[in-house]
Amino acid sequence: MTTSQTAMIDITGLRKSFGPLEVLKDINLQVKAGGVVALLGPSGSGKSTLLRCMNLLVVPDAGRIRVGDTTFQFGASTERPGTKPLAAFRSRTGMVFQNFNLFPHMTVLENVIEAPIHVRRLDRKTAIDLGMSQLEKVGLADRASQRPQTLSGGQKQRVAIARALAMEPSVMLFDEATSALDPELVGEVLQTMQQLAADGMTMVIVTHEIAFARDVADRVVFMRDGYVVEEGPAGEVINTPRMEATKTFLSHFH
Ligand code: ADP
Ligand code: MG
Repeated sequence: MTTSQTAMIDITGLRKSFGPLEVLKDINLQVKAGGVVALLGPSGSGKSTLLRCMNLLVVPDAGRIRVGDTTFQFGASTERPGTKPLAAFRSRTGMVFQNFNLFPHMTVLENVIEAPIHVRRLDRKTAIDLGMSQLEKVGLADRASQRPQTLSGGQKQRVAIARALAMEPSVMLFDEATSALDPELVGEVLQTMQQLAADGMTMVIVTHEIAFARDVADRVVFMRDGYVVEEGPAGEVINTPRMEATKTFLSHFH
């Protein structure tokens, strides 16, 4: 059991609406340090919004988010956080998207060292050493001087992972990181994510790769309609779901 003290990520009472549309309705979620949580649920259930709230790309309407030792409280009477604390917080929560978002006019290495130089203010030499070691970690050090368009989709996504890691984040968030890839390129990205998990990174993974979620995540959180409807050990939730909504969702993958 993860107590709120030992959790790396601790979310309580999180709410978010877009205009009249209530997308997150009282979300409570803890991720222990080194834990890997798979966030599952049908399209439109609020998974991406929740993930974006975790690094404050989306600012919640209400609730509390703590990552490591940084806490933000949201509510009608609470001031919106300033640009500086927001940027600092975001740089500690690495995010990987479906569509890589690499800068096309920069080399692979320049993509990876951009934020360490401009956000972390590392000197160029330090950033390059760090960037190369992250590229080695994802098996792409030999591609450092190439442009992204010369790489396969799987390689681009591994560069995006290296780029996020170069900020030395305390958590990594993945939003359908393999959904845009040709099937034969999915494996290499999942393998990189699995290695990261084995190295002890705290991760939240939105995915439709159910087998991957069962094998790599220690917990599964199932969302529907802006609520967490079921949560538990990954094997248990996936093999023997308790809630009808979870059963129905999982039945589409068999
Ligand atoms: P999921 O990732 O589970 O598919 P999302 O979090 O992307 O779900 O979306 C949940 C709901 O919120 C959807 O109805 C979506 O259309 C809506 N939504 C998401 N982002 C925005 C936004 N920026 N503005 C308005 N509606 C949004
Ligand atoms: Mg989504």
